Amino acid sequence: MALTDEPAANTADNTPGENVDVAANLAHVQASIAAAAKAAGRGAGDAALVAVSKTQGAEAILPVIQAGQQLFGENRVQEAQVKWPDLKAANPDLRLHLIGPLQTNKVKDAVALFDVIETVDRPKLARALAREMAAQSRQPDCFIQVNTGEEDQKAGVWPEDADAFVALVRDELGLNVRGLMCIPPVDEECSLHFALLREIARRNDLTELSMGMSADYETAIQLGATLVRVGTAIFGPRKSYP
Ligand SMILES: *Cc1c(COP(=O)(O)O)cnc(C)c1O
Repeated sequence: MALTDEPAANTADNTPGENVDVAANLAHVQASIAAAAKAAGRGAGDAALVAVSKTQGAEAILPVIQAGQQLFGENRVQEAQVKWPDLKAANPDLRLHLIGPLQTNKVKDAVALFDVIETVDRPKLARALAREMAAQSRQPDCFIQVNTGEEDQKAGVWPEDADAFVALVRDELGLNVRGLMCIPPVDEECSLHFALLREIARRNDLTELSMGMSADYETAIQLGATLVRVGTAIFGPRKSYP
């Protein structure tokens, strides 16, 4: 190989996400969501899209906002605090969902910034959220995350504990619990997990299901998802975020 000062000719082209047409991807995902809902005998608008913008910068997010997308998901409180206050101030209709694990020491910031917290999964967190929501007089909607695959390394209440946890969070602590959320194990048939989540929601009178990602959102819609969380199918490969 020749030694040279010249940068490799195609460095920019190889940067993940560099040439991604996010608006075209968004349109494609929206069309697929509508088609999947129709095929399942549901209304075209019955499954809403949460665009997962974690690791993406404002230059990737702005065209998606300009294309009319209003629901966004982030998995880290600190990253979202850097990216979203200005975008939310400029676009008051945006709704930001927290889809990653929440530590109790970040509860204050999460309640202040997020409109929906999808990852309520343990009593200590639920109690901290209830206290902080009262203190801030701000009531983000909540989803309870269920660890349908009973994976030790994954967040979420276990299926057998879900009913009691719903009762605590919704009935005792009074949080606005809209539904359930899950992230199936990567190596298992997702439809079994989506069906389990739907059953736990049904028996607890919860109407919303946040389930389905880029690889499986059509299956999730078939099984009743009301929110799908889609990142790479819109934004391309994730960036490494500092
Ligand atoms: C990153 C992430 C997504 C989006 O995943 P893609 O495969 O990029 O669509 C969805 N849900 C959660 C909880 C995530 O962390």
